[in-house]
Amino acid sequence: MKQPAVLFKNIQIVTPMPGGPVLSLTNAFVAVAAGEIRYVGQFEDTAVQILKDCGFAEYESYDGRRKILWPTMANTHGHIPMTLMRNQADDAVLHTWLFEMIFPREKYLTPDHVLNGTRLGMAEMIRSGTGTAADMYYYSESVVEAALESGMRLNVCFDGKATGSDGKTHLVRPSLEKFIADCQTYGQGRINPALLVHSLYLYEPDLHRELSETAQALNCFVQVHIAETKREVEESLAKYGKRPASMLAELGYFKSPTIAAHCVHLDDAEREILKAHSVFVAHNPTSNLKLGSGIADVAAMLRAGLRVGLGTDGAASNNNLNLYQEMRLASLLAKGTSGDAALLPADALIEMATLHGQKGLGFERSGCIAVGYEADLQILNADQPAMWPLGEPTSALVYSADAAFVESLMVAGQWLLYKNDLQTLDEEKIKADALRSSARLNP
Ligand SMILES: [Zn+2]
Repeated sequence: MKQPAVLFKNIQIVTPMPGGPVLSLTNAFVAVAAGEIRYVGQFEDTAVQILKDCGFAEYESYDGRRKILWPTMANTHGHIPMTLMRNQADDAVLHTWLFEMIFPREKYLTPDHVLNGTRLGMAEMIRSGTGTAADMYYYSESVVEAALESGMRLNVCFDGKATGSDGKTHLVRPSLEKFIADCQTYGQGRINPALLVHSLYLYEPDLHRELSETAQALNCFVQVHIAETKREVEESLAKYGKRPASMLAELGYFKSPTIAAHCVHLDDAEREILKAHSVFVAHNPTSNLKLGSGIADVAAMLRAGLRVGLGTDGAASNNNLNLYQEMRLASLLAKGTSGDAALLPADALIEMATLHGQKGLGFERSGCIAVGYEADLQILNADQPAMWPLGEPTSALVYSADAAFVESLMVAGQWLLYKNDLQTLDEEKIKADALRSSARLNP
């Protein structure tokens, strides 16, 4: 795989720093070689010398004037192949949407359809500044295949459940173990496997215990939906006498790294439970609004010390995979619902979308522009009326930027988008294949 050396020149940088404030540096130079960030600062000579010392006397110069360089974003919750159902299941509450509009389409899915839908979703995400995604779906091998092709980082669920001789659903543990081993072998560090736990309400307690014990034994990521709707909470209280996050903890979850999507309806005790177990929360403001599920209290989660990232959820409930929109919406919702305009300032959204999101999905060396970090970077063309005058760069990214202004993106130093052209995916073919697959789900 080609890993070019690149020197970004005279560019505006915005980056979160671990444990520190979001940094903004103008007229900066950033050197990238062999997939890593080698220099960040204001001296071109030093950057060039460092590239030479790494064995890269030749490098590409990237003119950064009127551009913003910042880390790629991490989409911490989604069902990528559901791009195939975009704009076909709208204006319905979650339960009706899921059981009457989505499940009937999903019974026609094949590995090929999933591959086509994932490629489409990845093309869309790369074009909108996202270099890392979480995926919770079926036919995970196809999702992984698309990720390896596209070059994106992926935290990907494996389902691995089947009906046993007792007529009940069980986890087929050897197939999960094989999937985990395959991801580690072929993933080049870009693929983190996870166990799919759809939700408390979809499985019986016996299966939940099997899943939680396996996740703990394998120290495997778990992706789960928690407290997305009021109905889920009411049903959990009626069935178990406990709210969903409390019940999942009692069933043995949260002992391995866990990504909890939504968490719209949590109480203080549940926030404490999630915090105590270092559960990572994926906040999906658009999907929660569109399905009428409610508004997650992100400010309360942050006050409780929870780690929170941003997600789009699937394109069937959003209806796009654009994290610029999620940053802006998350900030506005927190301000509007609390009456406190200081809540969730631009810096907090930058951190959630990049550094915190990457860590939550298990990519510890991504999401920051500092020496030694992976070169997971996006370049936004700020030479636009909508971003003029630039003012505070962090505000510009959250409140006035548009995903369409992303002109380039690299993951581990590999260009996935270069000056508006996708480098790893064939966009026209992908669109044609996805259209055909989408039609097959509506016979
Ligand atoms: Zn979801």
